[in-house]
Amino acid sequence: MGLANVYMDMTEVAEVYALQRGKLRGKEPTAMTPRSDADNLANEVKAAANAVAARVKEIREDIHAHPELRYQERRTAALCAEELRSLGIEVTEGVGQTGVVGVLRGGAISSGACQTVGFRAEMDALPTEDLCGHPWQSTNPGVGHHCGHDGHVAALLGTARVLAGMRDRLEGNVKFLFEPAEEATPDDEIAGSTAMINDGALDDPRPDAIFACHFYPEWPAGSIAMKVGSSFSGNDYFELTVKGKESHSAVPWKGIDAIVVAAQVISALQSFTARQLDIEEAASLTVGTISGGRASNILAETVEMTGTVRISSEEIRDDLPAMIERTIKGVCESFGAEYDLKYFSRHLPAVICTQAEVDLMRSASIEVLGREHVIEMRHPRLAADTVHEWLDRVPGVFFMVGSAGESPDTRYPSHHQRFNIADETWPAVVAAESMTAIRYLQQARSE
Ligand SMILES: [Zn+2]
Repeated sequence: MGLANVYMDMTEVAEVYALQRGKLRGKEPTAMTPRSDADNLANEVKAAANAVAARVKEIREDIHAHPELRYQERRTAALCAEELRSLGIEVTEGVGQTGVVGVLRGGAISSGACQTVGFRAEMDALPTEDLCGHPWQSTNPGVGHHCGHDGHVAALLGTARVLAGMRDRLEGNVKFLFEPAEEATPDDEIAGSTAMINDGALDDPRPDAIFACHFYPEWPAGSIAMKVGSSFSGNDYFELTVKGKESHSAVPWKGIDAIVVAAQVISALQSFTARQLDIEEAASLTVGTISGGRASNILAETVEMTGTVRISSEEIRDDLPAMIERTIKGVCESFGAEYDLKYFSRHLPAVICTQAEVDLMRSASIEVLGREHVIEMRHPRLAADTVHEWLDRVPGVFFMVGSAGESPDTRYPSHHQRFNIADETWPAVVAAESMTAIRYLQQARSE
């Protein structure tokens, strides 16, 4: 059974006639189509998303009050598992240590193989003190949900509730992936996405596409944003040592001052970013650490720096190691200094969104949010996210969800200790995710 409802009432019939009269008079009709099956479905999904919004807010505030660091998300994982089970969804816990996987099997699968659409939300919090000042302020000292992951989880549980309520009409499966340890992991640990994949999260059933979101106050609550290609740039990483020659500051010409050379290198790298990269692209080069020298009156022998480079273009990114080395080499040679550069291209890879899935999600989201609330991103955000581990293996979309509302605390940037999410965010993200799941499984069925 499809999701169609062929019912058309007399008001709608009258609208159709009005449209036809408009055409006869040579005027553009004011509406493209009379209210149709598609509109009925969109209205049903919107109503269901509105109906679960209060529950989503409640879950988000509960998780916000009990934030947990990477691989310690036991309470959050138990909450996800319990909520999914209460909706009649199959649950597997302990996938990638504290990860949770839910599978909702659709009731409108006629026969044979069917498709599976996946959604991922990350569960971990940050090691930062929560200063939100709301009744749901963190009760875990030094730990806070300042990246919105509490909201991502709550919204996906809301989507699960909407889709479970429509399971009889789902033409395939929906897989829910609640991921641990998204935030920076030490070098000797693997990220939660990798841990889940190693534990079989992509198997049985394998998702044919995966959708995931991140909340940001750069867009108004009630809207979402997406683009084809990279939606997060990831970053390159480098380690640079400038090697000079020690000398007393009374006789500077007898040495090579690595600190002076390093200062020139940093300035040259900033000029490189501003003057040699296409200004249509977004770029950020940061020297984040620097150390060198051993006394106030001695020319430093070496200076060590580490930094990151982020760019919106994957093509230009290929050229960056050579361009950056040329800049460093030129400056160092002009002072007679040497250097050692270790450049790690795609240290954190970009998150790549596929054309077909972006097109599907865009049109499904327009159905429930309206065209004006589905925004085309011009550039990727110059950030990194472990969601690339999923999207490197499965096509899909990492989309942005606007979370800024009237209250000033919903305008604080991500990772701010008072980061908050406007209430209008909940029905919008739930409706967009739910409609995307429904439309994805329908089009997969009809292919
Ligand atoms: Zn995040």
